Amino acid sequence: MSTMSTFTSWPPDLTLEQLDQLTLLATTYALSHSLLYLPPYSPEKQPPPAPESAIHAPFSLLPTPIPRQLFAQALSLQRAYNTLYARIALDTAFLDQVMGSGGISDIDDFTGALWSAWKRLRDEGVPPPLHLGLFRSDYLLHQPTTNDPVSLKQVEFNTISASFGALSQQVAGMHRYLVESTEYFGISPLLASDNLPLNDTVKGLAEGLEEAHRAYGISNAHVLFVVQPNERNIFDQRLLEYQLFQSHGIRVTRQTFAELGTTASISPSRALLVAPISSGLNGTPVEISVVYYRAGYTPVDYASPADYATRALLESSHAVQCPSLALQLAGGKKVQEVLTRPGVLERFLSPSEGAALVRNSWVRLWGLDKGDGAGADEAVREANELVIKPQREGGGNNIYRDKIPSFVAQLPQRERPAWVAMELIRPPREVGAHLLRSGSERVHTRVVSELGVFGWALFGEGRELKEEQAGWLVRTKAEDVDEGGVAVGFSVLDSVLLV
Ligand code: ADP
Ligand code: MG
Ligand code: MG
Repeated sequence: MSTMSTFTSWPPDLTLEQLDQLTLLATTYALSHSLLYLPPYSPEKQPPPAPESAIHAPFSLLPTPIPRQLFAQALSLQRAYNTLYARIALDTAFLDQVMGSGGISDIDDFTGALWSAWKRLRDEGVPPPLHLGLFRSDYLLHQPTTNDPVSLKQVEFNTISASFGALSQQVAGMHRYLVESTEYFGISPLLASDNLPLNDTVKGLAEGLEEAHRAYGISNAHVLFVVQPNERNIFDQRLLEYQLFQSHGIRVTRQTFAELGTTASISPSRALLVAPISSGLNGTPVEISVVYYRAGYTPVDYASPADYATRALLESSHAVQCPSLALQLAGGKKVQEVLTRPGVLERFLSPSEGAALVRNSWVRLWGLDKGDGAGADEAVREANELVIKPQREGGGNNIYRDKIPSFVAQLPQRERPAWVAMELIRPPREVGAHLLRSGSERVHTRVVSELGVFGWALFGEGRELKEEQAGWLVRTKAEDVDEGGVAVGFSVLDSVLLV
């Protein structure tokens, strides 16, 4: 495998003229293929109810080299991870102990609100729903020194609102188009379509939703997308919606928590009914088969206690929950940490189901509450090799390296269990990329790329688990930025070049 030399020399030189030509081909491809965001808007000026324009999503001009064998490993791990997280979500006692009262719920308000809503449903005797997970397991390549082999290490496992499945398929399509139409001017024999894996994420994720819809059993029911107000990443969601409609004949209703607060109701037989927002002539509520949350992963999404009540109302129905409160809690970073403790993963996954491979994809994690101050001391001592994380999703919440000691010093002792320390994964340092963001100059910089693998799982008590791997994504960011994401730094969509 020519991995080392590939990393140190990537990407090969392109002239300014070649780069400009690729940029034109890439941006027009993006604008032609829904590789789009809605434009930014200022908080003072609400965006128009019907958008008039869009911008291309940020992306990398060339695909990113990933060792073939590690890519295959990431894909093949997904089914073990699907199974693992399904079983965790069904283990009420485990989740209560880790995330419930007496655990994280007493310390972290957001976890507490989600767990309390789930506990209340159980106390009221509401039967547990069918659970659908549309998951994304995220990895970085790990190579602590240039003498070490490159391996694959997991960053985190997402059980709610995992996004960019559809747009990543479009980026992979764009890189394939550039390879096939320009061969990137012959700069590298690696840039051949045989080295670009197919990415069928839209089909894969829609199949998960379709399977759940079918399990619900009423063919003209709608799938409900619970969305954030003024979502700019709407095309990533619409592509899934079109796939559901065109390939499976399933209709989608999109509403925010605020809207559902007035439109959602539960029938005596526990069907979830949702009335249209702009009722027009026909305001008849529709029955919902599957509730797919693209909102609700962050406290910001719950503007008031009423929104938590709405979440609980949706879950009190017999619509499939993607994810259920239990499955959302299973995706907590504290759960990720507890799983790494001796024997815990192995309670959920047997050797023949790949427990050792899963464990091998982890770096060291521990709770700041470990052993009477030892966990916090260790985090301070080893700060430069670490990130510490709270129970949050969506980027921008972690604390890195030299910021750790002063943070830990001021953190009240009782809050320590809600923070996990994690060894920093060390990606190969010598990879470059050309990053393109609408309205900005093209940037040529050293980068770090994060590989995500999608999967789905449909499960419930007394029902056989169904699960599949469902495509992948790559996100690339400048190497000096700790987190990718919207607010911090410069993170773009990317795809895989097998090397
Ligand atoms: P979130 O749920 O908010 O996305 P993550 O755990 O994915 O939280 O952390 C956000 C980002 O921080 C990741 O995408 C990655 O770039 C960086 N990061 C997180 N954990 C590590 C780690 N152990 N080593 C290196 N980078 C990390
Ligand atoms: Mg993440
Ligand atoms: Mg996450």
